[in-house]
Amino acid sequence: MKCGLLGRKLGHSYSPAIHALLGDYEYDLYEVEPENLEDFLRNGDFDGLNVTIPYKQTVIPHLDELTSVAKELGAVNTILRKNGKLIGTNTDYFGFHSMIAKSGLSPAGKKCLVLGSGGASKVVQTVLQEYGADVIVISRTGENSYHNIAIHSDAAILVNATPVGMYPNTGTSPVDLDLFPNLEGVLDLIYNPARTKLLMDAENRSIVAMNGLWMLAAQAKCAAEYFTGMPIPGDITGQIHADIKRRSENIILIGMPGCGKSTVGKLLAAKTGKLFVDADAEIEKMAKKTIPRIFAEDGEPVFRNWETQVMEKLGKESGLVIATGGGCVTMERNYPLLHQNGRIFWLQRDVENLATDGRPLSQNIDLKEMYESRKAMYQRFSDHEIDNNGDVHAAVTEIITKWRCCI
Ligand code: NAP
Repeated sequence: MKCGLLGRKLGHSYSPAIHALLGDYEYDLYEVEPENLEDFLRNGDFDGLNVTIPYKQTVIPHLDELTSVAKELGAVNTILRKNGKLIGTNTDYFGFHSMIAKSGLSPAGKKCLVLGSGGASKVVQTVLQEYGADVIVISRTGENSYHNIAIHSDAAILVNATPVGMYPNTGTSPVDLDLFPNLEGVLDLIYNPARTKLLMDAENRSIVAMNGLWMLAAQAKCAAEYFTGMPIPGDITGQIHADIKRRSENIILIGMPGCGKSTVGKLLAAKTGKLFVDADAEIEKMAKKTIPRIFAEDGEPVFRNWETQVMEKLGKESGLVIATGGGCVTMERNYPLLHQNGRIFWLQRDVENLATDGRPLSQNIDLKEMYESRKAMYQRFSDHEIDNNGDVHAAVTEIITKWRCCI
């Protein structure tokens, strides 16, 4: 079979990697301009398609049949060519059903706010109504908007079906969660970054916070079954979810200057297939000055601003191993930038073993004092602590083991 993803601008899509895990069919990306859509659908060389922005509605007039779910939603995200006919269905519906089940939330009888009124919102509304939820749609225009959202402070579940917070415009949230004291969980259909600001705010309140990667995997499984006409046994949704998370998550190293972050980082990148990036080297590139010169000519606050700019740039990317500078933890603002797409490992080496050769900044300070003042900050940022006093390969293995077991 020949399948693929139809859209206008597809950029970097996870779909080919996902479908490679799902079935023995070719899977290509088809970027089609609106004026060529009808010709592509009628004469294109494909057996099955997934459909994304902006064509989920506009493909409908060119199809021969719709399944009942596609008819109800008025949107198609999967097309099958069967006996010369084009049949459209919507697997996002099954994807969101699966996401609700995985989240452990029980929407029945509860007020659920759905942010946005586009195609994905319609899917979310339909599923939540099937669960018996009291569904309120928040739209930039209309009866329930962001201006009067506080009247729904009794909401129990919030679902983001807008693109607010999505890569590359990360770090923004559509709502302030302080308005909702009874909130039990937040579901964000966005999966890049793994943690939008909205999800990090939910995490900080220790309530359920789930991104859209599970939904993406679940709808893809359903589409593959539709393409091939064969059920896929086992927990393939879980496997896809883990595989994409493994590829996309950044591994971030923090720790004192000279604790081995660059050495460990390069080895980690080679073992995981990720790209190694040294944040200090990026700062020098961006500032067009060496770090000692920035400190000497501009002072530490200017250096810290450069550093945050680099964290902003790197933290939202995917599939990196990032070695940070020793002092990046002194700025709390760097935490969400690193946490949004990454797992943070604190590399620990005893102060007397820290490397100081060729490090003028380390030679002129009391490292013991610095360690004492930063210890709590390293703790605050880190997801895992790794001892790097012994064999560097042992530290690398420990990081990979801890990283894999939490995927
Ligand atoms: P869409 O049809 O373009 O709808 C998005 C809606 O969000 C708009 O109708 C609009 O609603 C609202 N919106 C747009 N820009 C906004 C802004 N700047 N501020 C506040 N609200 C804004 O897109 P969609 O297909 O529904 O997708 C929505 C999101 O869900 C995207 O992030 C997409 O990637 C994600 N998604 C994920 C999956 C998955 O499998 N995880 C599947 C489908 C979609 P109002 O005009 O009413 O405010």
